[in-house]
Amino acid sequence: MNLITGLHHVTAITGNAQENIDFYTGVLGLRLVKKTVNFDYSEAYHFYFGDEYGTPGTIMTTFPYGKDLINGRHGKGMLNTTAFSVSIDALDYWMSRLEKFNIPYKQPQQRFSEDVFIYLEDFDGLGLELVFNDKDERKGYYNRYIPKDYALKGIHHVEIWQDAYERTAALLMTQMDHKVINESSDRLRLGTENLPGKYVDLLSTPNVLKGLAGRGTVHHVAFATPDAESQLKMIERLNAYGLEHTGVKDRKYFTSVYFKEPGGILFEIATSGPGFDVDEEAAFLGEDLQLPQQFEEQREHLITVLPKINYPTEKFR
Ligand code: ZN
Repeated sequence: MNLITGLHHVTAITGNAQENIDFYTGVLGLRLVKKTVNFDYSEAYHFYFGDEYGTPGTIMTTFPYGKDLINGRHGKGMLNTTAFSVSIDALDYWMSRLEKFNIPYKQPQQRFSEDVFIYLEDFDGLGLELVFNDKDERKGYYNRYIPKDYALKGIHHVEIWQDAYERTAALLMTQMDHKVINESSDRLRLGTENLPGKYVDLLSTPNVLKGLAGRGTVHHVAFATPDAESQLKMIERLNAYGLEHTGVKDRKYFTSVYFKEPGGILFEIATSGPGFDVDEEAAFLGEDLQLPQQFEEQREHLITVLPKINYPTEKFR
């Protein structure tokens, strides 16, 4: 049995909280499944966007630290692009939708002689793609503004740039249950299975500048493991491989272990459960500010320092 079953979430450093909500729920049509604070810095939000329930493999999470945060730079040693999976029939729809909201995008391109994709960036410059394909059975989240069949289905793959990707590939393949899915001159696609939501693309980019953390860059990528038991087995593998890690951290909606992969990118192993309905009903996910127990007594203070936010209105129809 695989200890790693695919991607769980991607977490990014972003700027303005309202713009962040507007982009991921308004433009892209994801559901805000949790509004909480950064568990390591409670005076900033932590937003989770995903499908209706925040199913692992559909989740983009953000730390919106505010507009004044210094811009990061895409580059090597970084996860530069998070790709979302969409139906192959949705290409025209998404090009006109992005145009409608004045979101610049690059013209469609083809990869591995199958998937057509377009590259775009969110309001903070975070690298994103929409990958149009007919392999994804996931339903996606239906938010009324976007026709059901055209909704984003979840993450398709993540794209990592390294000076040379061999050590990252070795870790993924020998310890994290990935195998080679596809390969081209400049790209190695690994995956736990040949399905969207389970791919990691590795690029060797020796001539590119090193990435710099900041607004519009990815903080870490999380891989899914079924439960606490499989997570402990993963820890044993990390120990045997000689990788330092944080031990198990309680993230309320899952438990996590963090470590730096050999190329310097922060990886997380997150359990699939208990899920986002542990502190609010599934029907009302994301509506109220949810705090972990250790921050409950700061609630009044946090409500005054966290920026006020609204859900997108009909302007994103
Ligand atoms: Zn995480």
